[in-house]
Amino acid sequence: MGMDHGEEGVDCREALHRIYHFLDGELTADRRVKIESHLNGCVPCLHMFDLEVELRKLVADRCRDAVPDGLRARIAFAIDHEHGEEGESGQTP
Ligand SMILES: [Zn+2]
Repeated sequence: MGMDHGEEGVDCREALHRIYHFLDGELTADRRVKIESHLNGCVPCLHMFDLEVELRKLVADRCRDAVPDGLRARIAFAIDHEHGEEGESGQTP
């Protein structure tokens, strides 16, 4: 025991950092297991993980339901503007 604690698992800082990658599906199976085992034994990290999961659900739901009008208008304007720039100089009735 006590040879190299870095090999056994992950500490909290590491765990929190990896949660994002975990949720993005960017971790290898081996790393997922390590994160999961850390979350099982560490309440603060588990709470952070739950929060992040909830947050992502919320964002995903909102994006699926509706893009806010303001944002939609901005995007439309940006696209319009991009396409309209060329035709502006050579107007033909
Ligand atoms: Zn932790």
